Amino acid sequence: MDYEAVIGLEVHIQLLTESKIFCGCSASFGAAPNTHVCPVCLGMPGVLPVLNRKAVEFALRMGLAVGGQVNPRAIFARKNYFYPDLPKGYQISQYEEPLILGGQVEIEVEGRIKPIRLVRIHLEEDAGKSVHAEDYVGANETLVDANRCGIPLIEVVSEPDLASPREAALYLSRLRQLVQYLRISSGNMEEGSLRCDANVSVRPAGSVRLGVKTELKNMNSIRGVERALAFEIRRQIAILQQGGRIEPETLLWDEKRGVAEPMRAKETAPDYRYFPEPDLVPLQIDSAWIEEIRAGLPELPLARKRRLVEQYALPEYDAEILTETRELADYFEAAAQATPHVKKLSNWVMGEVLRVLNERNLALEQFPVAPENLAKLVNLVEEGEISASAAKRVFDEMVQSGEPPEAIVRRRGLRQISDARELEEVVDRVLQAHPGEVQRFRQGKDKLLTFFVGQVMQATGGKANPRLVNELLREKLGGSKG
Ligand SMILES: [Zn+2]
Repeated sequence: MDYEAVIGLEVHIQLLTESKIFCGCSASFGAAPNTHVCPVCLGMPGVLPVLNRKAVEFALRMGLAVGGQVNPRAIFARKNYFYPDLPKGYQISQYEEPLILGGQVEIEVEGRIKPIRLVRIHLEEDAGKSVHAEDYVGANETLVDANRCGIPLIEVVSEPDLASPREAALYLSRLRQLVQYLRISSGNMEEGSLRCDANVSVRPAGSVRLGVKTELKNMNSIRGVERALAFEIRRQIAILQQGGRIEPETLLWDEKRGVAEPMRAKETAPDYRYFPEPDLVPLQIDSAWIEEIRAGLPELPLARKRRLVEQYALPEYDAEILTETRELADYFEAAAQATPHVKKLSNWVMGEVLRVLNERNLALEQFPVAPENLAKLVNLVEEGEISASAAKRVFDEMVQSGEPPEAIVRRRGLRQISDARELEEVVDRVLQAHPGEVQRFRQGKDKLLTFFVGQVMQATGGKANPRLVNELLREKLGGSKG
């Protein structure tokens, strides 16, 4: 029997606010443990949370970008559980009335758009971090870092619309790209800014009934999510094929060993006892504010990709790469203002620019070559002013110095000789110096043309325009051929 997978994802995304969601503590990553804390985020008795307006704005930005509905009356809830990294003993989240209802994220599967429906997007605070695996922690000890307590998160919950680990990976990449375009999160999985849990079940192919699902946790890369899902789907199918039953349990992914194993029982009990948070009033979002946020949304990745294809007649492949990040698309479009040779420009951006960024681990805003200078370089090549190999040298110098290309071309004497009269003299000299080769060429030894081109190049120090040299040689050699 063939089986198919049914996958839903719950993605936690850390919002890039300056302060935490219910207090004024810094929300930045990487500080010394327990330095970004106060009585509110430490959960001292008698303190009151104050909601961060920016966190709500960022969550709304996401909700509107995916076409969700803003809930007219969202409420916060306490999610009660006891855990060492949660000093309050409860987490402020949203349960029955989340901020955003519905919406969808589009992924491209084999060239076709597939919408992945969303159930909800809600706001919540993060818990702290238990520290075990450091050399300053003893064998049977757990230390707690509360810096992360109260960092604002949104949780994006999808319908089980994903049919394969590959689709799950595409969906996660799209979400990450979206939050980066919206500038509401770094989307960095290694730093924990984007965390994902997955619900997985399998069923006979074509069946409409859902199978028993398991929950997968602890994946910390998109590749890890893909591997974990593939593992779990194989495991479930093997059990069913042997006539067994799937247990509804929570599994932890072990990236090193490539296996998912059940969590210990004491960590699983899902009895959270939600109740409305008494210290925060219901959220009623002003419709003028919603429209203001909607109007401020940037062009989203898929729309931008389609526009690049249409406006610049670029291949899909190019547009996909150029819109990978908002910064790269901005860079490309700024350069495209200054050159008519847009496809050549695209080649330079996808090739040389990305190569240098990767090699030097640079962000685009640190890249020394201004977009208009890259466009000028493309123009110099396309107008025959410099050769393709000289252009590579000029580009490398631009990366070093940030100078405009003309200055480098002038200083290094790299301008091509494109003056026909000047080149004609050189061609004549070369032909006169090699009468034997000329004769053999005229007798049919066509391959000698490259020899003559080489001689002209040598005589001009590599600066002759090769297209023009070829034309002149053919003219002079072919003229008396027959
Ligand atoms: Zn605080």
